[in-house]
Amino acid sequence: MSAELIKGSEISKQIKEELKVEIANLKEKHNIIPGLATVLVGDNEASKVYVGAKEKACKELGIYSERIDLPGNTSETELLSLIDKLNNNPKIHGILVQLPLPKGINETNVLYAIDPSKDVDGFHPVNVGKMMLGEPCFLPCTPNGILELLRRTNTETNGADVVVVGRSNIVGKPIANMLVQKKGGNATVTICHTGTKDLASHTRRADILIVAVGKPKAITGDMVKEGVVVIDVGVNRLESGLCGDVDFDSVKEKAKAITPVPGGVGPMTIVMLMKNTVQSAKMHGGII
Ligand code: NAP
Repeated sequence: MSAELIKGSEISKQIKEELKVEIANLKEKHNIIPGLATVLVGDNEASKVYVGAKEKACKELGIYSERIDLPGNTSETELLSLIDKLNNNPKIHGILVQLPLPKGINETNVLYAIDPSKDVDGFHPVNVGKMMLGEPCFLPCTPNGILELLRRTNTETNGADVVVVGRSNIVGKPIANMLVQKKGGNATVTICHTGTKDLASHTRRADILIVAVGKPKAITGDMVKEGVVVIDVGVNRLESGLCGDVDFDSVKEKAKAITPVPGGVGPMTIVMLMKNTVQSAKMHGGII
């Protein structure tokens, strides 16, 4: 078997087209322009690329974007004061502080300072708690993008055995939580991590395998069963180029479907951020 590719690059384009229509309607019928503020502190090269990609997506879709670049020696107090201003700025519906922040700034304090109604990254504990309870909230972008990939490829999660490898707060824990909810997931979910005994005995049971470990090619063909659907979240920069956390060549021979790296989960993360910003603009505008 050679797997079908789950092309996040194409699915994200479809979602962008849907968003363009929604954004044009919001402007025409309600005079609302969704606005996103991106805050970058310091000069981390990877962060600059991520923020640039988010700005570009805003422009493409007609979302107002405000980019604030601060020097690496910015104090936590200065950053908190900026967040306070953005919380109170009616043109801004979403606030994204690019992580990681320079040493000396407490990330938790900064993330907690963002108004939960503008927390389009879905990292504020109010949104994390609501997600856990299955209540409407901003869902974190990468896991929400994974759900969207599963939905739009008609991958059945109801009753499926899902194995998530990795338990980070931004990918592993939230995607496991979202898939275990009765509504929208209803899967039987196992979460694996470095404390897991015999990882392969778990991954081999998976109907859907989601891997977010940050280790190149950590999952190999002998660790999966025939017909599995594989979502590879990993982005590893090797001399030979980008690669995922899954050994694509050996796993694709057994999988029914698999996300490529690049062009799989990555483009979905950005488009889900845009979707959350539009949703926030609608909420702030009293439309939903
Ligand atoms: P992270 O915070 O580094 O967490 C990695 C998790 O994997 C940890 O829970 C760790 O277990 C577990 N782990 C590491 N090695 C393992 C192994 N050999 N066996 C089992 N579990 C293992 O990672 P993250 O932030 O979730 O990111 C993971 C990957 O996804 C990275 O490559 C990152 O660049 C990528 N990523 C991509 C996107 C995107 O938009 N495409 C978004 C976010 C992240 P312990 O908890 O026991 O340490």
